[in-house]
Amino acid sequence: MPFITNPAVAAFMAQLGSEFIFAQVLIRHQKHGYELRHVDDSHRDSSSLRIVPLDEVRRMVQFTAAGVFRPLKSAPNLQSNWRIIVNSPAELETTVNQLNPGAIADWYAAQSATPPVTDFREFMNRQTGMYQITQKLTDTQAIEVIKTGCHRTLCLKRRLWTATGLESDSRSEKSAIPCLEPCAMLLEYARKAMRLEKPRH
Ligand code: SF4
Repeated sequence: MPFITNPAVAAFMAQLGSEFIFAQVLIRHQKHGYELRHVDDSHRDSSSLRIVPLDEVRRMVQFTAAGVFRPLKSAPNLQSNWRIIVNSPAELETTVNQLNPGAIADWYAAQSATPPVTDFREFMNRQTGMYQITQKLTDTQAIEVIKTGCHRTLCLKRRLWTATGLESDSRSEKSAIPCLEPCAMLLEYARKAMRLEKPRH
């Protein structure tokens, strides 16, 4: 493979070994590159899986097998029955980032001694406009929102950020893809939860 200039990609590739599972994606080293497939297809014969060209990956990850839109690419509903062949670090980077946007950069950032994590309260305290209401969640309410909104049945990213009274996720519970700060989906969920709590007049 050609020389890798992106330090995040270089570090990511250096630790892949012969096989690496990144959320629902199994990355397998091959003679001239890597093969990616759904982890549920790990034991399937290659010839039984559909080859997905690189320019079709983005479209494939948009929808579940049932054709439902996937707003959160880290949700555990990636369709299976495919394989992707990449032949260069650039192709691997692009493909992994299409399957899980920003995952390599976030993984690399999480390797540092002090990962750039933004905790729940700090994140909500920055919100303005319609999301400012999230600042009113109590610690107990915030924990409920996070436990529900970031549950592994909804998202496989390992939450590194915390809230008062709530530790970060364990890797065994989620995946190797870190979550460095609350996402837009959780923010919206927190807003809706706070609106439901608000007394009506
Ligand atoms: S905030 Fe929660 S739901 Fe959103 S990406 Fe992070 S872990 Fe997943």
